[in-house]
Amino acid sequence: MENKFLISLTKKYESPLYVYDAEKIISQYNRLINAFSSVKKLKINYAVKALSNISILKIFKSLNAGLDTVSVQEVQLGLKAGFAPHDIIFTPNGVSLEEIEQAMGLGVQINIDNLSILEQFGQKYPKVPVCIRMNPHIMAGGNSKISVGHIDSKFGISIHQLPLIHRVVKNTGMLINGIHMHTGSDIYDIDAFIRATEILFDSARDLQDLEYIDFGSGFKVSYKEGDVETDIEELGIKLSKKFNDYIKSTGKDLTLMFEPGKFLVSEAGKLLTSVNVVKQTTSTVFASVDSGLNHLIRPMFYDAYHHIENISNPGGKERFYTVVGYICETDTFGSNRQINEIKEGDVLCINNAGAYAFSMASNYNSRYRPAEVLVYQGKDYLIRERETIEDLVYKQVEVDIDL
Ligand SMILES: *Cc1c(COP(=O)(O)O)cnc(C)c1O
Repeated sequence: MENKFLISLTKKYESPLYVYDAEKIISQYNRLINAFSSVKKLKINYAVKALSNISILKIFKSLNAGLDTVSVQEVQLGLKAGFAPHDIIFTPNGVSLEEIEQAMGLGVQINIDNLSILEQFGQKYPKVPVCIRMNPHIMAGGNSKISVGHIDSKFGISIHQLPLIHRVVKNTGMLINGIHMHTGSDIYDIDAFIRATEILFDSARDLQDLEYIDFGSGFKVSYKEGDVETDIEELGIKLSKKFNDYIKSTGKDLTLMFEPGKFLVSEAGKLLTSVNVVKQTTSTVFASVDSGLNHLIRPMFYDAYHHIENISNPGGKERFYTVVGYICETDTFGSNRQINEIKEGDVLCINNAGAYAFSMASNYNSRYRPAEVLVYQGKDYLIRERETIEDLVYKQVEVDIDL
């Protein structure tokens, strides 16, 4: 999308503004499909939590994707977007049996990540098929804040507890139709990932009712020039072969599943924000923008790098800036970044704002969450309005206590 067009959107819908490129979402989806084209049964379930706007979910519906959901509310959003229950997987962690029963009531595929609930569920509903989330204890990436496959991770049932799973299945007579792992974000070591899939293949061997193997996600995308991305094409070649060999040798007609969030939507999103103040101090020049950790928390929460451009002055002389938000916290988007000269009123574009950006936004400091706009074939569609004061007081109950 061209700078002029993006700036015109901030005039039309006001700043700050989230903008999503539908074509980028579609091309990422097709890239994944193409990488696994030799697998007969392939299903991509989009991880709703990355970006949960219903109009985005509808794009995935049109692409024939399914959904991966982590709360009953995400299941409901998916149903609202028109997904059939059997195209939705419910993969929560640490939730109550009641919430799992609610999801079951809505008819979606259940994925269970602990032995206690597995046993309780199996005793009550032995005929309802469930998937089990395993933890293969393989790290395919670096950052422990976002890696969930290591030995002390809270996610999944440890591979070392496989005999206990078998005991529960035998005692309850329950049906296991899927096996799943999600080792967390940041897969850049394909061979480590393949080792984890081999563990999953092995543990799947003795499950009689198996219909699919879900390899989760954690595909890494590029946040800046020179970043290592997950080589989807290499993964496609290596894992497709393993998978096809496996179904041949076991005679099981299985579906291969993935559930990416970041890979599908991260690069499609931009956060546009205007510069309120340029402030020279003795150590740096701050550019203070009309946004903050209330709109995009990844830089502060995960130390994530998000590339920042001055789209109002792309040819300007480059200088060093520290770009900060307007929240009463240290909410630094980027320190000492080389950016084309910034004047007050300029529009900055923060990249990779599609995944875990708006969906993690809050009303902290009683600020409104921005509008969201979807762009497809050069046309812009408002898919969420900017909030107003009514949204901030909605659901509040005003009580005057007699003091
Ligand atoms: C968050 C999540 C995903 C998506 O992860 P990405 O890194 O965004 O691709 C997939 N599966 C589960 C179970 C998740 O919790």
